[in-house]
Amino acid sequence: MQEIGHWVNGKLVAGTSGRFADVFNPHTGDVQAKIALATQAELDQAVADAAKAQVAWGATNPQKRGRVMMALVGLINRDMDKLAEVLSREHGKTIPDAKGDIQRGLEVIEYCIGAPQLLKGEFTDSAGPGIDMYSMRQPLGVVAGITPFNFPAMIPLWKMGPALACGNAMILKPSERAPGVPLMLAALCKEAGLPDGVLQVINGDKESVDAILDNETVQAVGFVGSTPIAHYIYSRGTANGKRVQCFGGAKNHMIIMPDADLDQAADALVGAGFGAAGERCMAISVAVPVGEETADKLIEKLVPRIEKLKVGPYTGGADVDYGPVVTAAAKENILRLVETGVEQGATLVVDGRNFSLQGYENGFYVGPHLFDHVTPDMDIYKKEIFGPVLSTVRAQSYEEALKLAMDHEYGNGTAIFTRDGDTARDFAARVNVGMIGINVPIPVPLAYHTFGGWKKSSFGDLNQHGPDAFRFYTRTKTITSRWPSGIKEGASLNFKMMD
Ligand code: NAD
Repeated sequence: MQEIGHWVNGKLVAGTSGRFADVFNPHTGDVQAKIALATQAELDQAVADAAKAQVAWGATNPQKRGRVMMALVGLINRDMDKLAEVLSREHGKTIPDAKGDIQRGLEVIEYCIGAPQLLKGEFTDSAGPGIDMYSMRQPLGVVAGITPFNFPAMIPLWKMGPALACGNAMILKPSERAPGVPLMLAALCKEAGLPDGVLQVINGDKESVDAILDNETVQAVGFVGSTPIAHYIYSRGTANGKRVQCFGGAKNHMIIMPDADLDQAADALVGAGFGAAGERCMAISVAVPVGEETADKLIEKLVPRIEKLKVGPYTGGADVDYGPVVTAAAKENILRLVETGVEQGATLVVDGRNFSLQGYENGFYVGPHLFDHVTPDMDIYKKEIFGPVLSTVRAQSYEEALKLAMDHEYGNGTAIFTRDGDTARDFAARVNVGMIGINVPIPVPLAYHTFGGWKKSSFGDLNQHGPDAFRFYTRTKTITSRWPSGIKEGASLNFKMMD
């Protein structure tokens, strides 16, 4: 059985804790590797080594750091197929979807090539007589990224790219369920010219996360995962004086107005609801058709599309629509929630409960489910299911649909499908959600904008990637300088005004 350790000081090292977790192949249900779970001592040592390595890296000019990013882009593209294969084998998503996962991370590395431009400070000439004022952005030192299983390439790259380009050292603690790609990315960073120790990948569970949160050298923590853990990490990290940004769970609504192109809306819902087996924080899990007629027509269009979906392994060819969910526990949780939906009175229009894939009976496959007549008091509406389950909540008016999205505790993404610009504009202006799609079902912003939800989908005040990431991973220092004639005038005891 393969044992996966950590990436420390530029090489793979075995874990010393004696504690391991299983890494599954969700397609077959087999355990494919054992992953070492780090101790506090291992984490603290990696941080201490990173702090030493950061000194020279932070002093390296941004253009040279940008060149490392440029080389990394080339290497990730070179190894795209290998990375996608490992990603699919651990996560369960199809190869084209795995490549999309890598690509959306890669785009953030491309953005980070612009570090010299992004790190430029501000300058005010002659803020007072003979006085110049300028500000500079300096790295924080050692920072940490704690990432989820569902985007094993994209989210580690969202964390490491900006953190490293800004001159920090990073401790990356990836999901213990999909550790292969983050370790491969660390090796590619070395090949791209990143000095040893600047990126340390420490595998682990709560013990290593708590060690990050309590380590005094770690200045900032960027987290992505479920909302309860996001809240925990935000509370403990900030209580320890760290800068923390945590991105949590979601329940993304898509509103379908009566004037929408319903074929387009149905296609969008199927892609956004069932792609990656629904294991995306930007998946659409709630369809909100406005008006009974819209709802009836939409369901009619959805059913054949959903029934046609092909569920299978990533090796199953180009026509596989989605693969298994990540673990047996995730599968159980999804099916349990589906049961509560039936018990609480929702109509299960497409029932995937008895789905089984011949030859892969032990894989963690879940058939597609479509619910109609879901109401806001039901568990399937309130909770994030994170599986191939689409719920339909019928609204009688636009205002009722808008209120549903606004009253839900999550506020990651949402979409509206309509032909009416005024309705779309009103929706974008009023809805209290971070990322909005107008006739676009999964509105994930590109690398040069920022990504982040509202309400319980995010804790902290800056978003991921784009300009916000360069703010999050740097501190501003502002200098007021006077050369040298003012000094000749002798000391002044007054509180200085810029007169
Ligand atoms: P998770 O919260 O279980 O795990 C995320 C990370 O936290 C992992 O590295 C894990 O090891 C660590 N962790 C887990 N339990 C912990 C504990 N008790 N104490 C300390 N650390 C702990 O999330 P997941 O299942 O890997 O990912 C799915 C979740 O992530 C979904 O809720 C999804 O919506 C969310 N997500 C959000 C975004 C976003 O940007 N908002 C993006 C992707 C995924």
